[in-house]
Order: sequence, then C-alpha cells, then structure tokens
Amino acid sequence: MVDRTERAAGRARNASADKAVALGHAATAQKAGPKQAPKFDRRTIALVYDFDGTLCPRPMQEYAFLPKIGIEAESFWRESNRIAREEKADPLITYMHLLYKKAKAKGVVINRQDLVDQGKQVELFPGVEQWFDAIGSYVRTHAQAQDVVLRHYLISSGLTEIIEGTSIYPRFHNVFASEYWFEAYEMPYPKRVITDTGKTQYLFRINKGVEDLGDSINQHMPEDSRPIPFANMIYFGDGDTDVPSMAVMRKNGGHAVAVYPPRGSKAKCVDLFKAGRCDVFAAADYNIGTELFNRTCLLLDRILADMRLQEEIWRMGRDVEKGK
Ligand SMILES: [Mg+2]
Repeated sequence: MVDRTERAAGRARNASADKAVALGHAATAQKAGPKQAPKFDRRTIALVYDFDGTLCPRPMQEYAFLPKIGIEAESFWRESNRIAREEKADPLITYMHLLYKKAKAKGVVINRQDLVDQGKQVELFPGVEQWFDAIGSYVRTHAQAQDVVLRHYLISSGLTEIIEGTSIYPRFHNVFASEYWFEAYEMPYPKRVITDTGKTQYLFRINKGVEDLGDSINQHMPEDSRPIPFANMIYFGDGDTDVPSMAVMRKNGGHAVAVYPPRGSKAKCVDLFKAGRCDVFAAADYNIGTELFNRTCLLLDRILADMRLQEEIWRMGRDVEKGK
C-alpha cells in the first residue's frame, strides 16, 4: 500500500502546477531561479474547507457505510456519542471503532477500496462541483497581473478513504482527514484521528508550508517566513466543531465563512456570527451569484488588495535596506 503521505505529496506537487496553470501564471509563478531578483513570494491564497455539513449535507458515513450494514444513522450516532460519554473516550475514535464493530457483527467486510467506492455516493451541496473553477476564474480576473496561486484544502474529521472517492477529491491541493490502518488484526484501526481542536494543527501546516505529515509542525518559524499568511486564508465551516479552527483563523488575521443548509435553519450560523467566529455566513449554495459566492468574493477582494499592499511594504523595506 502506498503511504498516504507520499500520495499527498505527489498530489500536492501536481495540484500546485495545475493551479498555477489554471490561473495563467505558471511561467512567472514557478520560475524563481537563483539569478533572478528576489520577488515578493507570499501570493498564495488558501481556501480551507470542513467537509460534513459544509460541502455535503450529512456526515459522509451516512450515504453508504451505514446503509450497507443496515444501521440507521440517528441510532448509530446516538450510540456512538453515548459510549464516548460513558467511557470518557474520544468521540472520533469511538465512531471509527464502532463503525467496524457493527460491520463485523453483521458479517460485512468493508475494505479500503470499498470505502473509496462509497465516496461516489456522497451528495454535495448545490454548485460545489462548479465552485472551484468559478472561484479560480474570479481570482484570475481580479488579481491584476499578480502571480497569484489559488489552492483548496480539506480538513475533515471524516474518512480520507471516502473523500478520495468523491468527484471533487482531485480539486484539493491537500486533504487532511481521519484514516484507518487496514492491517490491524481483525479490524481496521484508527491511523489518524482529526478532532475539532486537532484541525487547527493542519491550519498551521498550511500556514507554515509543512504539509508532509512526517515532518514536525512545532519548530519556530517567524511570521514573515510563512509561505501562506493567515491573512491569505479563508476557512469554511458549518458548526460548533469548527469553532477552534475559526478562532485560530480570526485571531491570526485570517477569515472564516459559516454555512447552513439551503433549506435549513441558520440559527447556528447566527450564533457563530454573533460570537465573532466568522466574518460572514450564507446558505451552502456554491453556485455563481449566490450570497455564499458573492461574500466569498468580497473576502477575496480584500485578500488581493492586502496582498498588493504587503508587496509594496516589502519593496519599501528592501529599498530602505539598500539605503535608497
Ligand atoms: Mg462540519
């Protein structure tokens, strides 16, 4: 089995090239040779998404895994949460364990490829599949000749394997999600568990450019050396499980967008907005011209304007150093 880190690194390299080409700046963005004059290089924008409730309406396990083992979603989550509470266990590890415990009890074998295949049945919110090209086009036409690179990231407590099977998987520069070992005696064993607070580690990995999970994230890195400043990042989430990530974004100069189901209640988003967790909120309709699209574009306008200002400040600083 190919290690996920290798796969992620390979995908990251490919995606990086793809996005630069998509923005029409491949030549200038990728050719910073040693003989060229130093260039302002903090031109990457990162849009970071939660998955369940943000890009798809329901927890991803409900589309195929639970039906396949004949378990009703509500009773599964009720039981999982009860066990976690009673045993004082981590809720994410508990659900990952309980999924396979139930499958085993029903005599249903679900291997890695089965999980990937389940991803094809995951429903996405309206416009999600077109969103990536539409936002890429908006950034390209508003970047005013800056060599801007746009990246999309996913940070999810859900399962990497299911996400891999969705149609939008190739759109992401990198995907950080929970994952199983599939060779642990009788049942798959949690290999990586991404909790609500654990999600923030991955925001710092994106911020510092330390995306290889084999590398430690804890070394000090001065703010001005970090390749994607928080100010260039927007986090998209839908609820309480996103609060730690939204708080990290907002406290570090980044941006957060909260979404609610298009035909559902906006009460949670209103709470997040009132508590200052998000800049804006909107229904999770990702089509061009929706409130979500337009409000995201306003944040992108701000990021692009700030990028131009930061580049000018960087140029002034260089002139000051040279005594000009
Ligand atoms: Mg969510």
